[in-house]
Amino acid sequence: MKKQKKALITGITGFAGSHLAEFLLDKGLVIHGMVRWRSERSNIQSIKKKLFLHEADLLDAHSLYTVIETIKPDYIFHLAAQSFVKSSWASPAHTIEVNMVGSTNLFEAVRRCHFPTVIQIACSSEEYGKVYPEETPIKETNALRPLSPYGVSKLGMDYLGYQYYESYGLKIIRTRGFNHTGPRRGEVFAESTFAKQIAEIEKGKREPIVSVGNLDAERDYTDVRDMVRAYYLAAQKCTPGEVYNICTGKTWKIKKVLDFLLSQSKVKITMQKDPNRMRPSDVLLLSGDNSKFVKATGWKPQISFEQTLTDLLNYWREKV
Ligand code: NAP
Repeated sequence: MKKQKKALITGITGFAGSHLAEFLLDKGLVIHGMVRWRSERSNIQSIKKKLFLHEADLLDAHSLYTVIETIKPDYIFHLAAQSFVKSSWASPAHTIEVNMVGSTNLFEAVRRCHFPTVIQIACSSEEYGKVYPEETPIKETNALRPLSPYGVSKLGMDYLGYQYYESYGLKIIRTRGFNHTGPRRGEVFAESTFAKQIAEIEKGKREPIVSVGNLDAERDYTDVRDMVRAYYLAAQKCTPGEVYNICTGKTWKIKKVLDFLLSQSKVKITMQKDPNRMRPSDVLLLSGDNSKFVKATGWKPQISFEQTLTDLLNYWREKV
């Protein structure tokens, strides 16, 4: 009988991590997840019994070494991070520490275990940061001009991945994911906070006013379920040491996202600008070129963004 492959997901309790765990379970892999004692586990509630959970923290090198030595995973999907751009302004050093030092701890743990694990690392389109209109759609070769401590932290992790591949031959595949969303998306993110507010308004839990930040930014959105399928394909088919954009190539202005969500509701709702939702410098346009990744894997997004937003709104309708 063929031996089942083992995958370790860091950040399994998070938004993408929980979807990835569901996807990999369906593929027949044995799923191990890294959790902290205080991790909020509602995202993995329905699959908890099928998972092997291990307590570890990216900032505790010993815990990572112990987990990897115990599991000897065939794959690591490294999703754990301080993932919120806005918080990276409030806590820049913490963001750098978790995303760069924490990733270094993980790579060192794998290096010391001498096990040929394939490691997919979730880098970000925020690394591109300031992009001039003539530089779009963004290719992997574009200049990296991050505009937030988060973008810098992801760039650092990305290049550490490259360096650990070159220096030690670690099989690290760097994916630069553009925005992805869908059910369970953290409520701090624009499209998710709109959907949550609309769901609360429909239930009479708040005034019929949605508070919003910068509506002019334009993002290249992928459904989270398409994104985690892409992560799996990356680990199967991409070349270690290389970097790949994962995106749809289609952009939506945040204003259009809000208008679509509002059009899904029967309640009459207005909107109000909230200065607290603004950032010191925002990336205006992120539109990606996914041709390198598509060529390597044959990946194609399957879920329309209208469907993604509808599913997100329905998720909040059930939750609030
Ligand atoms: P998320 O929902 O915020 O999940 C973050 C995960 O990281 C949680 O499971 C959290 O665990 C874990 N974590 C944080 N600090 C940790 C630490 N010190 N030690 C161990 N675990 C820790 O993030 P996401 O949206 O799923 O994103 C997944 C990855 O994709 C992140 O690396 C993010 O930067 C990247 N990414 C996301 C997007 C996007 O649009 N969603 C785009 C590009 C890249 P706890 O439950 O213990 O807090």
